[in-house]
Amino acid sequence: MVRCIFMPNGCRWDEQREKYFERLRAHMVQTQLRARGIKDERVLKAFMEVPRHRFVLPENIKEAHEDHPLPIGFGQTISQPFMVATMTEALSLRGDEKALEVGAGSGYQAAILGKLCKEVYAIERIPELAERAKRTIEELGYTNVHIVVGDGTLGLPEHAPYDAIVVSAAAPDIPPALIEQLSDGGRLVIPVGSQYSQVLIRVTKSGGRIKREEICACVFVPLIGKYGWQEDVAW
Ligand code: SAM
Repeated sequence: MVRCIFMPNGCRWDEQREKYFERLRAHMVQTQLRARGIKDERVLKAFMEVPRHRFVLPENIKEAHEDHPLPIGFGQTISQPFMVATMTEALSLRGDEKALEVGAGSGYQAAILGKLCKEVYAIERIPELAERAKRTIEELGYTNVHIVVGDGTLGLPEHAPYDAIVVSAAAPDIPPALIEQLSDGGRLVIPVGSQYSQVLIRVTKSGGRIKREEICACVFVPLIGKYGWQEDVAW
């Protein structure tokens, strides 16, 4: 039986609830993203449209729009909204790209990319997280976002090359496969550094040449895999 509760103003309860989360998103976009220098209007619009509260655990729903990462289970996190926005803006997306995300986690970053790119592939090494992210993405009606289980340090050669690659976990160095799988003119954004702190790097490939730029300091959970950290590393 589906229960439908109507509020005094005639709105259904779930509509009221979604309007409430929409207001929280608008506040998040204004105070955490726009006010801190995120300028790309397409990126800001995507953050308004993607319901972040659908990607967090039920016990964290009240904190979904707060200015910090949140646990998503299995020792992993959904990244801080500003960090997701910074990485997304650094990819300079126009709308016609094929993108790859390494470290799909909750699926939130992939959903943001889904609003800004033509096609998105997102790899997650923990099958349970990948399954949950896939379900959320499907429930929200995306047809251009594909969640895959695997070791993202190897990239995803079957769909390469990618115009944009974002790595959402901390790497000791840039996995060579990701540079190989970048198209000419493609952009790769990745946190590189030690186990405790990293620098967000943007790599641009042009005419076979690689340009590296530092964006900002950051702290991510480890990228674990063949060209990342080993699983038994002490954190
Ligand atoms: N972008 C995610 C989101 O929006 O929820 C958050 C990502 S979380 C900070 C990092 C994720 O990277 C974790 O879910 C972790 O399991 C995953 N990960 C770590 N190493 C990986 C690898 N080699 N391949 C794929 N995923 C990996």
